[in-house]
Amino acid sequence: MTIDEYLMPGGEKLLIYRFVGMGGGPRVYLQGALHADEVSATVALHRLTKLLDAAEQAGELIGEITVVPHCNPRGLGQFAYGRHLGRFDLTDRRNFNRSFPNLADAIIGHLERMPLAARTREAAVAIGHALMAGARTLRTSATGCGSN
Ligand SMILES: [Zn+2]
Repeated sequence: MTIDEYLMPGGEKLLIYRFVGMGGGPRVYLQGALHADEVSATVALHRLTKLLDAAEQAGELIGEITVVPHCNPRGLGQFAYGRHLGRFDLTDRRNFNRSFPNLADAIIGHLERMPLAARTREAAVAIGHALMAGARTLRTSATGCGSN
């Protein structure tokens, strides 16, 4: 396990845990708390890092796994009236989970170029298209955040 500290422009620290298995394999990225007050994923991912560390040391890990238990250190520091906020950027009131670049085409293009078996690549691209279609539907119909 390696832990990288990324210093954000506002001075907050982002912790990035990396686990590398034996002999290559898929890459997985997991993150929690885009809405900074949703810390249940953060707790679960911290526990997962302990399990992944043990698996990595035992040589039982396949592929590469990147874990960011709390991906919104800016929101983590937002408190008002004794309550943790973290859903909206207090500088401009934007919802943290509604203001990110649309990387759909880049992601789909990346999936199409990955050195995978044709069938696996087709499945990955289909999943990518479905996720992006879902994200577009969510973006156009969302008036707020229900569960995400
Ligand atoms: Zn959320």
